[in-house]
Amino acid sequence: MSRSTVVIAIDGPAASGKSSTAAWVARELGYRHLDSGALYRAETGRRLGITDPRSAEVTAAVSAVAQMPEVRAAVNAELRRAAATENVVVDGRDIGSVVFPEAQLKIFLVADPWERARRRLHQRLERSATDAEIAEETRLLVERDASDATNTLQARDAVLIDTTYLTQEDQVQRIVALAQKV
Ligand code: C5P
Repeated sequence: MSRSTVVIAIDGPAASGKSSTAAWVARELGYRHLDSGALYRAETGRRLGITDPRSAEVTAAVSAVAQMPEVRAAVNAELRRAAATENVVVDGRDIGSVVFPEAQLKIFLVADPWERARRRLHQRLERSATDAEIAEETRLLVERDASDATNTLQARDAVLIDTTYLTQEDQVQRIVALAQKV
């Protein structure tokens, strides 16, 4: 199936930098950014009666809510509706494999778990984290990777980018360069 609007799918595990990279790429290209994880978080918050979708309670519960077929169907329908009328950069776990198998560009971001934990904590604490803090955050990330594993599907035609040793600007420029060729 070919599309009349452009979809760039950015998938990968927790804290691989998908959302911030997708937002930046969307800005560079003048596309709209759709954050599918934020939709799963919002639904989880609604179910728990919590208004902060980034809270630790939502993060702990979101995987289970995101396993529900009716929740996935609703999120996917919302993403497809939004992408029908404008060019989008969509980030998530299954965007290039399940939601938009016809996307013109698919990226799969990976990074070493320790490095993902370090970046996530640096962002949250606004200071360098200690090794003990990084070790605990790594444990939580690896746990969430495991519970998200069935819904994290790398499309066969995705471009794999390991960001462990890349700056965010480098990874954005690589994706923008690929996007300019589609
Ligand atoms: O990307 P983020 O960490 O905000 O995603 C929150 C959760 O939403 C993930 O841990 C996963 O359980 C779920 N999710 C998903 N499929 C997607 C995006 C997110 O199952 N496409």
